[in-house]
Amino acid sequence: MKAGIVGLPNVGKSTLFNCLSNAKAQSANFPFCTIEPNIGVVNVPDTRLEKLEELVNPERVLPATVEIVDIAGLVKGASKGEGLGNQFLGNIRECNAIIHVLRCFDNDNIVHVDGNVNPIRDKETIDIELQLKDLDTVEKRLDKVKKAAKTGNKEAQLEAALLERIHACLMQGKSARIIEAQNQDEEELLEAFQLITSKPVLYVCNVDEDAAVNGNAYVEQVKELVKDEDAEVIVLAVGTEADITELETYEERQMFLEDMGLSEPGVSKLIRSAYKLLDLQTYFTAGVKEVRAWTIKVGDTAPQAAGVIHSDFEKGFIRAEVIAYDDFVSYGSEAKVKEAGKLRVEGKEYIVKDGDVMHFRFNV
Ligand code: GDP
Repeated sequence: MKAGIVGLPNVGKSTLFNCLSNAKAQSANFPFCTIEPNIGVVNVPDTRLEKLEELVNPERVLPATVEIVDIAGLVKGASKGEGLGNQFLGNIRECNAIIHVLRCFDNDNIVHVDGNVNPIRDKETIDIELQLKDLDTVEKRLDKVKKAAKTGNKEAQLEAALLERIHACLMQGKSARIIEAQNQDEEELLEAFQLITSKPVLYVCNVDEDAAVNGNAYVEQVKELVKDEDAEVIVLAVGTEADITELETYEERQMFLEDMGLSEPGVSKLIRSAYKLLDLQTYFTAGVKEVRAWTIKVGDTAPQAAGVIHSDFEKGFIRAEVIAYDDFVSYGSEAKVKEAGKLRVEGKEYIVKDGDVMHFRFNV
């Protein structure tokens, strides 16, 4: 599961990516690693992990992580192959969610590709490229499916009807994510099409330091523009936060943030939001050797959760012993939770909840 950072050139994408990659400075246990120059694995900040560490006092602590991809090079005309357009659009297709960075800061020294700062126009420029790419995908598919539909194939007819709806939506300059599946079949088809504009999105308004807390007029314009999109808008002073990650000590960084009026780096919030956008959640294992946050999809069952640790755990799954995070914290230890009768034994059908502290029993 990964989130891709998109936006026009010079809006602050690589600064944001570098800032995220420097997030290692905040939590030392799981080094950020760059898989490829533009792909990084970032820790998901989670205060629950600190709390569990306090209670269990383990040898090490491992946070959950999320993969972030810097997708540079998206420009006007990308869908027609301008620049390295098609390659970059291919990279976006492989992502599961999109972080769309919008330039909301003035600075005459930093050239804007379209002459002046205008996040509304910028968003549209990027959206249009993505929509054109999807239009291409939809039209190709429609060509094939229509032929099958003509022969009376019911499935093909259903698919063609959905494709026509998406086509009409894209032609109006709207993204495919506004299309609502009307039944299970449509839902599966929408998933299978892998359209870029149907991926979930969040917007990052990149502002100057003085607008980090309350935003500015550009941010207001963006919020107004996307108010019907059901998408989160995050205000972030990317440049300043990048500077902060360069500071040596935690105390220095914290002081700088407090001066700005922030209690934690804005990028921490962004990482958590991206994690949520990917429909991910966390369960914990809490032993004296290791306290660890594991990542699963919302809705995963106990065996699926066990499978994240090891595929054998999933295959041989017998049962899970589960403690709700709040119970763990209020009783203070696993033993006390047991005493209080708050440890639950759950079977194969159990849908794991965010924050569950789990033990798995399995056959080998
Ligand atoms: P990209 O092309 O989208 O990856 O943009 P970069 O991250 O390379 O940023 C372009 C320029 O804008 C660089 O010189 C950054 O230092 C600068 N920059 C990025 N974020 C900010 C910001 O929040 N405020 C200001 N003033 N400059 C920024």
